[in-house]
Amino acid sequence: MSHERLTIVVAAFNEADALPVLHRRILDVLDGLRGDGIDGGVLYVDDGSRDPTWPVLQELAAADARVALVRLSRNFGKEAALTAGLDLVEEGAAVILDADGQDPPELIPRFVALWREGHDDVYGTRTEREGETWLKRASAHLFYRVMLRLSKTPIPVDTGDFRLLSPRALAALRQLRERHRFMKGLFGWVGFNRIAVPYQRDARLAGHSKFNFWRLWNFALEGVTSFSTAPLRLATYVGLGTALMAFLYALWIVIKALIWRDPVAGWPTMMAVILFLGGMQLIALGLIGEYLGRLYEESKQRPLYLVDTWLPARGVSSKPV
Ligand code: UDP
Ligand code: MG
Repeated sequence: MSHERLTIVVAAFNEADALPVLHRRILDVLDGLRGDGIDGGVLYVDDGSRDPTWPVLQELAAADARVALVRLSRNFGKEAALTAGLDLVEEGAAVILDADGQDPPELIPRFVALWREGHDDVYGTRTEREGETWLKRASAHLFYRVMLRLSKTPIPVDTGDFRLLSPRALAALRQLRERHRFMKGLFGWVGFNRIAVPYQRDARLAGHSKFNFWRLWNFALEGVTSFSTAPLRLATYVGLGTALMAFLYALWIVIKALIWRDPVAGWPTMMAVILFLGGMQLIALGLIGEYLGRLYEESKQRPLYLVDTWLPARGVSSKPV
């Protein structure tokens, strides 16, 4: 039987408590896949953790030759950490998995089966989310639907980063080197044969989410500005609408003055109009600023991440068992 390579990429930031538990589960899955002719390995990306994540990872790597490790020079954020991991996958397909056990590794054999049927992007779609507040679920729900309407790139709803990418999807993704990396959108942009696998998202094994509301809000802004210029167009329409109303109102004032010789009045209306227009202008300026700022970041062409230490897997047995 021909052997195919599969690397499970796990980005970890302060996950020392969850990793050993998750690692056990990953190894079980890899052992199971070996029988199906899959040469599996794990690549952990330590995204500048400040807890004992790195020593924990080193222990895991010492105990199993299929484990590769990379440590970034500081915390670059999940999207950059994933990019680093995917860049280091030399051969075969890749699976992206959260380090906190929220994505069940036990689903990977199903992903692999679908990959073998010719799918390039097999992604997990959450049917339920455990251990998350209703506010987070509701905002996530809303976010995915808004993105769907705003963006021309197909971004599946309720889908995270948990997925399998075929070698060609991986190669395509690697060509997208933009700095503001909204991964969900990037996966969608790549296209090819995509298929959803519904699953139930578990609660974290340990620790707490790194994404508070402020971070999620920024993440949502990132998504919208990276994959849509609709807000800019909206500003144009609001401007057009206001101009039209202003014209009609001006006409009315002139006619009123001509017919009834209206004495000057209307300080309240004037204030209201000035404040309204001022506010609208500032919002439109801010919108332009959002896009301009991203253009500026992009133009600097800095690397997406820096590697501190890279420890390749010591060996992946390619012998069938
Ligand atoms: N993560 C990371 N760098 C960061 C923040 C998070 O690599 O700066 C990893 C984290 O270790 C986890 C995954 O990204 O494996 C998802 O993070 P988290 O569970 O905090 O997000 P949530 O599941 O709440 O969306
Ligand atoms: Mg999580």
